Amino acid sequence: MRPRQFASDTYAGMHPAVLAAMVEANSEHAAAYGDDAWTRRAADRIREVFAHDAEVFFCLTGTAANALALAHLCQSYHSVLAADCAHVETDECGAPEYASNGAKLILIPSVHGRIDPAGIREAAARRKDIHFPKPRAVTISNTTELATVYTPDQVAAIGAACRELGLALHCDGARFANAVAASGCHPADLTWRAGVDVLCFGGSKNGAFATEAVVFFDRRQAREFEYRCKQAGQLISKMRFVAAPWVALLDGERWLDNGRNANASARTLAAAVAGIPGVTVLRPPEANAVFADLAPGLAEAMHARGWHFYNFIGGAHRWMCPWDTRPEDVAAFAADLRACAGGSAS
Ligand SMILES: *Cc1c(COP(=O)(O)O)cnc(C)c1O
Repeated sequence: MRPRQFASDTYAGMHPAVLAAMVEANSEHAAAYGDDAWTRRAADRIREVFAHDAEVFFCLTGTAANALALAHLCQSYHSVLAADCAHVETDECGAPEYASNGAKLILIPSVHGRIDPAGIREAAARRKDIHFPKPRAVTISNTTELATVYTPDQVAAIGAACRELGLALHCDGARFANAVAASGCHPADLTWRAGVDVLCFGGSKNGAFATEAVVFFDRRQAREFEYRCKQAGQLISKMRFVAAPWVALLDGERWLDNGRNANASARTLAAAVAGIPGVTVLRPPEANAVFADLAPGLAEAMHARGWHFYNFIGGAHRWMCPWDTRPEDVAAFAADLRACAGGSAS
Protein backbone atom coordinates (compact mmCIF):
# COMPACT_ATOMS: atom_id res chain seq x y z
CA MET A 1 0.00 0.00 0.00
CA ARG A 2 1.26 3.48 -0.84
CA PRO A 3 2.12 5.72 2.12
CA ARG A 4 -0.60 8.07 3.28
CA GLN A 5 -0.24 11.78 2.66
CA PHE A 6 0.29 14.57 5.18
CA ALA A 7 -1.40 17.28 3.10
CA SER A 8 -4.70 17.39 4.96
CA ASP A 9 -6.72 15.36 7.39
CA THR A 10 -9.47 15.37 4.76
CA TYR A 11 -7.34 13.13 2.52
CA ALA A 12 -8.28 10.26 4.84
CA GLY A 13 -11.22 7.99 4.21
CA MET A 14 -13.92 6.83 6.57
CA HIS A 15 -13.40 4.75 9.67
CA PRO A 16 -14.63 1.17 8.98
CA ALA A 17 -17.13 1.51 11.84
CA VAL A 18 -18.56 4.63 10.18
CA LEU A 19 -18.98 2.78 6.93
CA ALA A 20 -20.57 -0.15 8.77
CA ALA A 21 -23.06 2.17 10.49
CA MET A 22 -24.00 3.69 7.14
CA VAL A 23 -24.51 0.22 5.68
CA GLU A 24 -26.73 -0.64 8.65
CA ALA A 25 -28.66 2.62 8.21
CA ASN A 26 -29.12 1.62 4.58
CA SER A 27 -30.81 -1.68 5.37
CA GLU A 28 -34.24 -0.23 6.14
CA HIS A 29 -36.33 2.72 5.10
CA ALA A 30 -36.54 5.53 7.65
CA ALA A 31 -38.41 8.78 8.13
CA ALA A 32 -36.86 11.76 6.34
CA TYR A 33 -35.34 15.10 7.43
CA GLY A 34 -34.04 13.86 10.77
CA ASP A 35 -37.22 12.37 12.13
CA ASP A 36 -35.57 8.95 12.42
CA ALA A 37 -34.01 6.73 15.08
CA TRP A 38 -30.39 7.20 13.91
CA THR A 39 -30.65 10.96 14.16
CA ARG A 40 -32.24 10.76 17.61
CA ARG A 41 -29.55 8.33 18.74
CA ALA A 42 -26.72 10.49 17.41
CA ALA A 43 -28.09 13.62 19.08
CA ASP A 44 -28.60 11.70 22.35
CA ARG A 45 -25.03 10.37 22.21
CA ILE A 46 -23.71 13.90 21.68
CA ARG A 47 -25.72 15.10 24.69
CA GLU A 48 -24.24 12.23 26.73
CA VAL A 49 -20.69 13.01 25.64
CA PHE A 50 -21.09 16.64 26.72
CA ALA A 51 -23.17 15.78 29.81
CA HIS A 52 -25.53 18.55 28.78
CA ASP A 53 -29.05 18.88 27.42
CA ALA A 54 -27.89 20.55 24.21
CA GLU A 55 -29.81 21.11 20.97
CA VAL A 56 -28.05 19.29 18.14
CA PHE A 57 -28.21 19.77 14.34
CA PHE A 58 -26.18 18.27 11.50
CA CYS A 59 -24.65 20.01 8.50
CA LEU A 60 -22.61 18.62 5.62
CA THR A 61 -19.58 20.90 5.82
CA GLY A 62 -17.73 22.83 8.47
CA THR A 63 -18.16 25.98 6.43
CA ALA A 64 -21.95 25.59 6.49
CA ALA A 65 -21.95 24.75 10.20
CA ASN A 66 -19.80 27.76 11.14
CA ALA A 67 -21.59 30.19 8.83
CA LEU A 68 -25.08 29.18 9.94
CA ALA A 69 -24.20 29.04 13.63
CA LEU A 70 -22.60 32.49 13.54
CA ALA A 71 -25.47 33.88 11.45
CA HIS A 72 -27.87 32.56 14.08
CA LEU A 73 -26.09 34.45 16.83
CA CYS A 74 -26.02 37.73 14.89
CA GLN A 75 -28.16 40.31 13.20
CA SER A 76 -26.82 41.63 9.89
CA TYR A 77 -25.48 44.78 11.61
CA HIS A 78 -23.41 42.82 14.14
CA SER A 79 -19.77 41.75 14.09
CA VAL A 80 -17.93 38.59 15.05
CA LEU A 81 -14.48 38.83 16.60
CA ALA A 82 -12.11 36.20 15.22
CA ALA A 83 -8.43 35.32 15.09
CA ASP A 84 -6.68 36.69 12.00
CA CYS A 85 -5.89 33.11 10.94
CA ALA A 86 -9.40 31.75 11.61
CA HIS A 87 -10.82 29.36 9.01
CA VAL A 88 -13.99 31.50 8.94
CA GLU A 89 -11.83 34.38 7.71
CA THR A 90 -9.27 32.68 5.50
CA ASP A 91 -10.98 29.59 4.07
CA GLU A 92 -14.74 30.04 3.89
CA CYS A 93 -15.05 32.44 0.97
CA GLY A 94 -17.06 34.90 3.05
CA ALA A 95 -19.68 32.31 4.06
CA PRO A 96 -20.32 33.74 7.56
CA GLU A 97 -20.87 37.22 6.10
CA TYR A 98 -23.07 35.76 3.34
CA ALA A 99 -25.17 33.61 5.69
CA SER A 100 -25.67 36.51 8.10
CA ASN A 101 -26.55 39.05 5.39
CA GLY A 102 -23.47 41.09 6.17
CA ALA A 103 -22.30 40.60 9.75
CA LYS A 104 -18.63 41.61 9.68
CA LEU A 105 -15.65 39.61 10.89
CA ILE A 106 -13.33 41.75 13.01
CA LEU A 107 -9.84 40.28 13.20
CA ILE A 108 -7.70 39.92 16.29
CA PRO A 109 -3.94 39.31 15.98
CA SER A 110 -3.30 35.73 17.04
CA VAL A 111 -0.27 34.09 18.63
CA HIS A 112 0.28 30.58 17.28
CA GLY A 113 -3.38 30.57 16.28
CA ARG A 114 -4.78 31.61 19.64
CA ILE A 115 -6.47 34.81 20.80
CA ASP A 116 -6.95 35.87 24.41
CA PRO A 117 -9.25 38.05 26.54
CA ALA A 118 -7.01 41.11 26.11
CA GLY A 119 -7.27 40.86 22.32
CA ILE A 120 -11.02 40.40 22.54
CA ARG A 121 -11.39 43.43 24.83
CA GLU A 122 -9.23 45.53 22.52
CA ALA A 123 -11.24 44.52 19.43
CA ALA A 124 -14.58 45.05 21.19
CA ALA A 125 -13.49 48.53 22.26
CA ARG A 126 -12.07 49.65 18.87
CA ARG A 127 -15.31 51.28 17.81
CA LYS A 128 -18.36 52.00 19.92
CA ASP A 129 -20.23 54.30 17.56
CA ILE A 130 -23.32 53.63 15.48
CA HIS A 131 -21.37 53.81 12.20
CA PHE A 132 -19.61 50.49 12.77
CA PRO A 133 -21.00 46.97 13.24
CA LYS A 134 -21.75 46.15 16.86
CA PRO A 135 -19.73 43.26 18.33
CA ARG A 136 -22.03 40.34 19.08
CA ALA A 137 -19.95 37.17 19.12
CA VAL A 138 -16.46 35.76 19.40
CA THR A 139 -15.27 32.71 17.52
CA ILE A 140 -12.32 30.54 18.47
CA SER A 141 -11.07 27.40 16.75
CA ASN A 142 -10.12 24.52 19.01
CA THR A 143 -7.88 22.90 17.77
CA THR A 144 -6.62 26.11 16.13
CA GLU A 145 -5.60 26.38 12.49
CA LEU A 146 -1.96 26.25 13.67
CA ALA A 147 -2.52 22.99 15.55
CA THR A 148 -2.33 24.60 18.96
CA VAL A 149 -4.93 23.82 21.59
CA TYR A 150 -6.77 26.11 23.98
CA THR A 151 -6.74 24.64 27.49
CA PRO A 152 -9.97 24.59 29.53
CA ASP A 153 -8.62 27.56 31.56
CA GLN A 154 -7.90 29.56 28.41
CA VAL A 155 -11.39 28.90 27.03
CA ALA A 156 -12.92 29.75 30.41
CA ALA A 157 -11.03 33.07 30.50
CA ILE A 158 -12.35 33.89 27.02
CA GLY A 159 -15.83 32.77 28.06
CA ALA A 160 -15.70 35.07 31.10
CA ALA A 161 -14.58 38.02 28.95
CA CYS A 162 -17.41 37.31 26.51
CA ARG A 163 -20.01 37.31 29.28
CA GLU A 164 -18.63 40.55 30.67
CA LEU A 165 -18.79 42.15 27.20
CA GLY A 166 -22.19 40.70 26.32
CA LEU A 167 -20.78 38.55 23.50
CA ALA A 168 -21.72 35.01 22.54
CA LEU A 169 -18.92 32.45 22.19
CA HIS A 170 -18.73 30.14 19.18
CA CYS A 171 -16.17 27.37 18.84
CA ASP A 172 -15.09 26.03 15.45
CA GLY A 173 -14.41 22.44 16.42
CA ALA A 174 -13.50 20.99 13.03
CA ARG A 175 -10.70 19.32 15.04
CA PHE A 176 -12.43 19.32 18.42
CA ALA A 177 -11.58 15.63 18.93
CA ASN A 178 -7.87 16.46 18.66
CA ALA A 179 -8.28 19.23 21.25
CA VAL A 180 -10.04 16.92 23.72
CA ALA A 181 -7.49 14.16 23.08
CA ALA A 182 -4.63 16.62 23.63
CA SER A 183 -6.11 18.11 26.81
CA GLY A 184 -7.29 14.88 28.34
CA CYS A 185 -10.17 16.83 29.86
CA HIS A 186 -13.92 16.25 29.76
CA PRO A 187 -15.47 17.68 26.56
CA ALA A 188 -17.65 19.87 28.79
CA ASP A 189 -14.56 21.60 30.16
CA LEU A 190 -13.69 22.93 26.70
CA THR A 191 -17.26 23.97 25.94
CA TRP A 192 -20.30 24.81 28.06
CA ARG A 193 -18.51 24.76 31.41
CA ALA A 194 -16.04 27.28 29.93
CA GLY A 195 -18.74 29.52 28.47
CA VAL A 196 -18.99 28.22 24.89
CA ASP A 197 -22.52 28.81 23.57
CA VAL A 198 -22.28 26.84 20.35
CA LEU A 199 -19.81 24.27 19.08
CA CYS A 200 -19.39 23.16 15.49
CA PHE A 201 -18.21 19.63 16.22
CA GLY A 202 -16.25 18.15 13.34
CA GLY A 203 -16.97 14.65 12.11
CA SER A 204 -15.45 14.75 8.62
CA LYS A 205 -11.81 15.07 9.77
CA ASN A 206 -12.37 12.52 12.51
CA GLY A 207 -13.29 9.56 10.27
CA ALA A 208 -16.67 10.40 8.76
CA PHE A 209 -17.43 11.49 5.20
CA ALA A 210 -19.45 14.71 5.44
CA THR A 211 -21.01 15.50 8.78
CA GLU A 212 -20.57 18.27 11.31
CA ALA A 213 -22.73 18.64 14.40
CA VAL A 214 -23.90 22.09 15.46
CA VAL A 215 -24.29 21.86 19.22
CA PHE A 216 -26.16 24.69 20.97
CA PHE A 217 -25.56 24.41 24.71
CA ASP A 218 -28.24 27.01 25.40
CA ARG A 219 -31.38 25.72 23.73
CA ARG A 220 -32.90 29.20 23.55
CA GLN A 221 -30.14 30.27 21.14
CA ALA A 222 -31.10 27.39 18.83
CA ARG A 223 -34.63 28.67 18.29
CA GLU A 224 -35.71 28.19 14.63
CA PHE A 225 -32.21 27.04 13.62
CA GLU A 226 -33.82 24.24 11.61
CA TYR A 227 -35.39 26.87 9.37
CA ARG A 228 -31.99 28.49 8.81
CA CYS A 229 -30.56 25.07 7.86
CA LYS A 230 -33.43 24.38 5.50
CA GLN A 231 -33.15 27.76 3.81
CA ALA A 232 -29.42 27.22 3.31
CA GLY A 233 -29.90 23.78 1.80
CA GLN A 234 -28.52 22.06 4.90
CA LEU A 235 -31.63 20.23 6.09
CA ILE A 236 -30.66 16.83 4.80
CA SER A 237 -33.51 14.63 3.60
CA LYS A 238 -31.72 11.32 4.26
CA MET A 239 -30.43 12.61 7.58
CA ARG A 240 -29.77 9.14 8.93
CA PHE A 241 -26.65 8.90 6.76
CA VAL A 242 -25.08 11.96 8.37
CA ALA A 243 -26.24 10.90 11.85
CA ALA A 244 -25.16 7.22 11.78
CA PRO A 245 -21.43 8.14 11.52
CA TRP A 246 -21.72 9.96 14.85
CA VAL A 247 -23.10 6.89 16.54
CA ALA A 248 -20.11 4.93 15.23
CA LEU A 249 -17.55 7.59 16.18
CA LEU A 250 -18.90 8.22 19.67
CA ASP A 251 -19.41 4.54 20.54
CA GLY A 252 -16.45 3.15 22.45
CA GLU A 253 -14.75 6.57 22.25
CA ARG A 254 -13.57 5.99 18.67
CA TRP A 255 -13.55 9.76 18.12
CA LEU A 256 -10.99 10.14 20.91
CA ASP A 257 -8.91 7.18 19.73
CA ASN A 258 -8.83 8.79 16.29
CA GLY A 259 -7.82 12.13 17.80
CA ARG A 260 -5.16 10.51 19.98
CA ASN A 261 -3.65 8.58 17.07
CA ALA A 262 -3.54 11.70 14.90
CA ASN A 263 -1.92 13.75 17.68
CA ALA A 264 0.60 11.03 18.55
CA SER A 265 1.49 10.69 14.86
CA ALA A 266 2.33 14.40 14.71
CA ARG A 267 4.58 14.08 17.75
CA THR A 268 6.34 11.08 16.18
CA LEU A 269 6.72 12.93 12.88
CA ALA A 270 8.16 16.02 14.59
CA ALA A 271 10.71 13.85 16.40
CA ALA A 272 11.57 11.91 13.23
CA VAL A 273 12.36 15.02 11.15
CA ALA A 274 13.84 17.23 13.88
CA GLY A 275 17.48 16.40 13.23
CA ILE A 276 17.37 16.58 9.43
CA PRO A 277 19.58 19.35 8.00
CA GLY A 278 17.50 22.18 6.52
CA VAL A 279 14.40 21.24 8.52
CA THR A 280 13.25 23.51 11.35
CA VAL A 281 10.22 22.32 13.28
CA LEU A 282 8.60 25.53 14.47
CA ARG A 283 7.11 24.28 17.74
CA PRO A 284 6.25 21.01 19.42
CA PRO A 285 2.90 19.84 18.02
CA GLU A 286 0.03 20.19 20.48
CA ALA A 287 -2.41 18.43 18.15
CA ASN A 288 -2.18 16.69 14.78
CA ALA A 289 0.04 18.90 12.64
CA VAL A 290 3.71 19.72 12.37
CA PHE A 291 4.73 23.15 11.06
CA ALA A 292 8.24 23.48 9.68
CA ASP A 293 10.51 25.79 7.73
CA LEU A 294 12.47 24.06 5.00
CA ALA A 295 15.73 25.02 3.29
CA PRO A 296 15.27 26.21 -0.32
CA GLY A 297 14.48 23.37 -2.73
CA LEU A 298 13.54 20.83 -0.08
CA ALA A 299 9.77 21.19 -0.43
CA GLU A 300 10.05 20.97 -4.21
CA ALA A 301 12.17 17.82 -3.91
CA MET A 302 9.53 16.24 -1.66
CA HIS A 303 6.75 17.26 -4.04
CA ALA A 304 8.74 15.64 -6.86
CA ARG A 305 8.74 12.41 -4.84
CA GLY A 306 4.95 12.53 -4.73
CA TRP A 307 4.39 14.06 -1.30
CA HIS A 308 1.62 16.65 -1.16
CA PHE A 309 1.61 19.40 1.44
CA TYR A 310 0.78 23.08 1.71
CA ASN A 311 2.56 26.16 2.91
CA PHE A 312 -0.19 28.79 2.75
CA ILE A 313 -1.42 28.09 6.28
CA GLY A 314 0.56 29.95 8.91
CA GLY A 315 3.40 30.79 6.52
CA ALA A 316 5.32 27.53 7.04
CA HIS A 317 5.01 24.06 5.59
CA ARG A 318 2.25 22.09 7.26
CA TRP A 319 2.22 18.34 7.68
CA MET A 320 -1.19 17.29 8.83
CA CYS A 321 -1.70 13.85 10.38
CA PRO A 322 -5.10 12.30 9.60
CA TRP A 323 -6.90 10.00 12.05
CA ASP A 324 -5.58 6.88 10.30
CA THR A 325 -1.88 7.81 10.05
CA ARG A 326 0.30 4.72 10.50
CA PRO A 327 3.85 4.54 11.86
CA GLU A 328 5.07 3.41 8.43
CA ASP A 329 3.62 6.55 6.82
CA VAL A 330 5.58 8.71 9.23
CA ALA A 331 8.70 6.64 8.66
CA ALA A 332 8.38 6.81 4.86
CA PHE A 333 7.92 10.59 4.92
CA ALA A 334 10.84 11.15 7.28
CA ALA A 335 13.11 8.84 5.22
CA ASP A 336 12.30 10.70 2.01
CA LEU A 337 12.84 14.06 3.69
CA ARG A 338 16.21 12.89 4.96
CA ALA A 339 17.14 11.62 1.50
CA CYS A 340 16.08 14.90 -0.12
CA ALA A 341 18.14 16.83 2.45
CA GLY A 342 21.17 14.80 1.43
CA GLY A 343 21.46 12.86 4.66
CA SER A 344 21.68 9.09 4.88
CA ALA A 345 18.43 7.17 5.21
CA SER A 346 19.65 5.15 8.21
C1 LIG B 1 -11.54 21.82 7.84
C2 LIG B 1 -11.94 22.98 8.67
C3 LIG B 1 -13.27 23.44 8.66
C4 LIG B 1 -14.34 22.87 7.76
O1 LIG B 1 -14.06 22.94 6.42
P1 LIG B 1 -15.07 22.40 5.30
O2 LIG B 1 -14.19 22.14 4.15
O3 LIG B 1 -16.06 23.46 5.05
O4 LIG B 1 -15.73 21.16 5.83
C5 LIG B 1 -13.61 24.45 9.54
N1 LIG B 1 -12.71 24.98 10.38
C6 LIG B 1 -11.43 24.56 10.43
C7 LIG B 1 -10.49 25.17 11.42
C8 LIG B 1 -11.00 23.56 9.56
O5 LIG B 1 -9.73 23.16 9.61
